[in-house]
Amino acid sequence: MTTASSTFIDRSSAILSHLEETGQLKKLQMIESPMGPRISIRGRGEVDCFCSNNYLGLANHPDVVEAGIEGLRKYGAGTSSVRFICGTFMPHEALEKRIASFLEVEASYTFVSCWNATEATLPTLCQDGDVIVSDELNHACIIDSMRLTTAIHKGVSKTIYKHSDMGSLREALLSATEKRSGNGAIFVITDGVFSMEGDIALLPDIRMLCDEFGAVLVVDDSHGTGVMGETGRGTHEYYGMAGSDIDIFTGTLGKALGGGAGGYVAGKRDVVELLVQRGRPTLFSNALPVTVACSAKVAIDTLDNNQSLVQKLRDNVSSARKGISEVGFEVLESPTAICPIIVGDTATAISMSNKLLDMGVFAIGFGYPVVPEGAARIRVQISAAHESEHIDRLCAALLHLKNDI
Ligand SMILES: *Cc1c(COP(=O)(O)O)cnc(C)c1O
Repeated sequence: MTTASSTFIDRSSAILSHLEETGQLKKLQMIESPMGPRISIRGRGEVDCFCSNNYLGLANHPDVVEAGIEGLRKYGAGTSSVRFICGTFMPHEALEKRIASFLEVEASYTFVSCWNATEATLPTLCQDGDVIVSDELNHACIIDSMRLTTAIHKGVSKTIYKHSDMGSLREALLSATEKRSGNGAIFVITDGVFSMEGDIALLPDIRMLCDEFGAVLVVDDSHGTGVMGETGRGTHEYYGMAGSDIDIFTGTLGKALGGGAGGYVAGKRDVVELLVQRGRPTLFSNALPVTVACSAKVAIDTLDNNQSLVQKLRDNVSSARKGISEVGFEVLESPTAICPIIVGDTATAISMSNKLLDMGVFAIGFGYPVVPEGAARIRVQISAAHESEHIDRLCAALLHLKNDI
């Protein structure tokens, strides 16, 4: 007998079979060691890791680990509550003050992820009559938050501009000015560092356009925080901008800042306070685990007290980029720690990434639909934890592949 539920399960199986047949099924690698420049994968042993967001190597830094253990001892394993009931612990306040001082803004508030933080921000801050203007290559959490916002507030509209194209942004702002109603606000939202291209938003130009049109600038600097700028403040610092030049930051604690989990919103006190009062992900979902808050705060302290980490990351990035292009691969030029090697076809990218793994180098291939058709790539990510031996092995493996093609 065919029931509704068996039909549904058959449908799910068919989708999975299709993914398998077309080489799109992701196989999750089981890591059996801490995250670091060299990790152990179940069934494979040790490999050099070039696909984590552990940009500063803080994920397994002894001080960061110890802070988590102390937090666990002192505050236990769980908050058992959302923030506004009884889920706000001392380490949350300490971390939020630390994030705000790090970014040189008035206040910040944490969430269990940057995804959550973004999902709290747009729907809470937007009202009917507002317009959201977004870069076409923005992260999925921004895209989905815009969908949520326009579904909740029927009077909010959105306009997408071509990636980092300031002419297109100007047109989008002109059309936003017409679309908004009454005192409607215009929000321009952009990634700081774009995760697939590894390029950076043109923040000074975007800031000028925002000023010209009276728009609010929101920057999700998840891949830029701890990486970009002289002291690792982020993409704005790379351009010599102050934290206060960005109206609202969103970011993650799950990348350079310890890599545990968690995200935040930072900016003016009243904007942050409105999210505390009204953001649904934080009113109805548990607080960031206290142990993670303890680790993340020490991660920021460690970054601030060891500026050599940011410098080492920069040095590693330039030597890896140089090495990759010397081997003969095209690596997109940029100052970020994301080095995409464009290989064209999706199947090629996946097979190259498998061959690299066989040679002990872990870097993931991305193809359509994550990136445009014909622009499949191996995404190599560099960390301050890498030593020259790791980068040498990466380049040697790439050379091997190049000779193979
Ligand atoms: C990684 C990333 C996120 C997701 O961060 P989580 O804290 O893991 O949810 C959000 N935005 C951007 C731009 C990212 O690169």
